[in-house]
Amino acid sequence: MTNSRQPVEPFRIKSVEPIRLLSRAERQARITAASYNIFKLEARDCYVDLLTDSGTGAMSTAQWAAIMMGDESYAGADSFRRFETTVKSIFRKKKVIPCHQGRVAENLMFSTILKKGQYVLNNTHFDTTRGNILHKGGVPIDLPCKESFSDQPIPFKGNMDIARLEEFITGHKREEIAMVIVTVTNNSAGGQPVSMANIREVSEICHRYQLPFYFDCARFAENCYFIKQLESGYSQMSIREIAAEMFDLCDGVMMSAKKDGLANIGGFIALNDEQLYGRLAELLVLIEGFPTYGGLAGRDLEALAVGLEEVMNEDYLRYRIGQVAYLGARIKEAGMPIIEPTGGHAVFVDAGKFLPQIPSEQFPGQGLTVAFYLEGGIRVVEIGSLMFGGIDPNTGKKLSVGRELVRMAIPRRVYTNSHMDYVAETAETIVRNKSAVTGFTIVKESQFLRHFTCELAIAQLKPEEAGRKGR
Ligand SMILES: *Cc1c(COP(=O)(O)O)cnc(C)c1O
Repeated sequence: MTNSRQPVEPFRIKSVEPIRLLSRAERQARITAASYNIFKLEARDCYVDLLTDSGTGAMSTAQWAAIMMGDESYAGADSFRRFETTVKSIFRKKKVIPCHQGRVAENLMFSTILKKGQYVLNNTHFDTTRGNILHKGGVPIDLPCKESFSDQPIPFKGNMDIARLEEFITGHKREEIAMVIVTVTNNSAGGQPVSMANIREVSEICHRYQLPFYFDCARFAENCYFIKQLESGYSQMSIREIAAEMFDLCDGVMMSAKKDGLANIGGFIALNDEQLYGRLAELLVLIEGFPTYGGLAGRDLEALAVGLEEVMNEDYLRYRIGQVAYLGARIKEAGMPIIEPTGGHAVFVDAGKFLPQIPSEQFPGQGLTVAFYLEGGIRVVEIGSLMFGGIDPNTGKKLSVGRELVRMAIPRRVYTNSHMDYVAETAETIVRNKSAVTGFTIVKESQFLRHFTCELAIAQLKPEEAGRKGR
């Protein structure tokens, strides 16, 4: 029965990479040695690794073939010209700045345009975007639509709140705002898509108030596929046509090509403003490399030129989005509450709802994360109080966190649907032994980004709870 719902892979496998499931005793030993922090595990000790979809995808035969065509010349390489032609044709801008990943595009942009105290408006800033803006003395403002907090399966939960956007702009002087960004899909809001209608409204407002409008478009093809499926008027258009309509509405884009570039490294800025291009290119030479390679090898540029085309293939996107939806449906059937609808690149489990017996100070999301490793050798990641909680180093106040989530990000073209079934079966086992899932306390932590390096210990149950359990 489940077979009929599985999105059939539109590829066959030519090269395989062995993975091995450690025994339960070995998994127990590894996670204890890692002080219950999955960032400290060795990748080889993870059977199915759903830590991130960034840079973890599999390349195609055409990409590997293109790699052999890499022109490694310092200046004016053919590989750059092929990359540039592809980027210009999809993103429809005059100038292209290559760089080695998305956060460098952000660093270049904000180092160049941001003045101290200026605001940057976004549907939701991704964490490196937020970090780069703060680092340059700017103020990132998130304006997600109200629906993004709803428990209902509403489409386009990634949208920007148009009323708040206009209110913010009219409440400030033009020179107080550096730019407006729409992140597609909205990564920090669960990989939820943004509708063309919403993008058009943002674009109109930006042009009315003469504000630069950029995309953070790491997952542009996934977003276009959702528009095609869910928004009226787009079902007959190709992904390339939808992308063209979308990018014609903006002044430029910043992209981490480690996602929808279908490559393991890469990023770029594309824009029309020639004067700004000149300033960005000057900084590029200082921090990344000459403007025709920008910190990438010629072979990387070749892989990207092919990957950016392949990612718009609809058979691929149907399988890709279908695989995320399939895993989400099976996790929900297993008895774990998830964020609905599922977005473009990951399934988010609501660990707070699933484990009401674990208070947020004891990190229910981390409890579930450790359970997935112990039960199945599966690496997932907590996105909740462990990642975003703690004390704000600037204000000394306790940081507030929305939901206690666990993210299962799916690498592109890497795992088969039977791996997804295996993850779902592991979820069923965890549901059956739900009372065995424990909370955690932090033993050692750093001031910034503590989740990467902290050490944890199993939280002791409060005495009255221990008593109840014993009966
Ligand atoms: C991954 C990502 C980035 C940062 O890109 P890196 O390649 O990891 O440096 C920026 N924005 C979004 C939306 C992303 O998903």
